[in-house]
Amino acid sequence: MVPDPRYGVTPLTGLPSRVTIHEVGPRDGLQNESAVVPVEAKAQFIERLVDAGHTSIEVTSFVPANWIPQLADAEQLLERLTFSAGVRYPALVPNLRGLDRALALGVRDVAVFASATESFAQRNLNRTVDESLLMFEPVVARARKEGLGVRGYVSMCFGDPWEGEVPIPQVVAVARRLMEFGCTELSLGDTIGVATPGQVVALLDALGEAGTPVDRIAVHFHDTYGQALANTLAALRHGVTTVDASAGGLGGCPYAKSATGNLATEDLVWQLHGLGIETGIDLGKLVATSQWMAGILGRPSPSRTVTALAGSA
Ligand code: MG
Repeated sequence: MVPDPRYGVTPLTGLPSRVTIHEVGPRDGLQNESAVVPVEAKAQFIERLVDAGHTSIEVTSFVPANWIPQLADAEQLLERLTFSAGVRYPALVPNLRGLDRALALGVRDVAVFASATESFAQRNLNRTVDESLLMFEPVVARARKEGLGVRGYVSMCFGDPWEGEVPIPQVVAVARRLMEFGCTELSLGDTIGVATPGQVVALLDALGEAGTPVDRIAVHFHDTYGQALANTLAALRHGVTTVDASAGGLGGCPYAKSATGNLATEDLVWQLHGLGIETGIDLGKLVATSQWMAGILGRPSPSRTVTALAGSA
């Protein structure tokens, strides 16, 4: 629980007592690594994340195999997984075909991946924002009818490499549509990691005014400019209790080569445990897992905490 017992735990007022970490390493992380990890290693990675205490692990994406070669083994991976009680194993589904594939393999939580900007919707989905939402609407409806949890990602919530600063009403409009479709959770993505805490609070305020309950909101920060933990703390002070992170900081940043991408789970856990916030995660086991995965990928973890604790886990 304590990151390192020598350094103690000192709480801050106004923060939650417990945070759910939504682990995105196997999906968002490995999707953006250049190396393709063998399916057996992916299954072992997920088992090790469960053993380290994770309860929400995004495992893969049911997109057509030629879209993302790194995740072309979604079926084989799901066949290898043993679902542990009390753990959610969501998968991304872009369309009804993907949802059917996920359902056939026993997936009980899914996610759709929308964009707040037209430029990213075109590049990522080859559709306008509106066309992509129309594609997701029946997916969410069908998934909800099947009793599944459905996470709605909104990417490029703060800045977009082609459009610059993203207007808040534009983000709120996409978020509201996803909630109206029946999404059970929203994940607000700072896809290029440019946001600073004031922007985070401004968007959360606007979503609150639009009627989105804060307990349905997760935040997904990237550390490209070193802002992920500051943004996380701002979101926690605002009542958010679900934070996305990637073990070992897997994922890089596809829009800025050699930059850091996803917030590393270990860096997040270090902060939360130092604040006395429960996560259920064993940091030592997690660091050992990320070091093992770094060996498979053939590159060191960009996580500061993994680097600091290397060898001591
Ligand atoms: Mg990400």
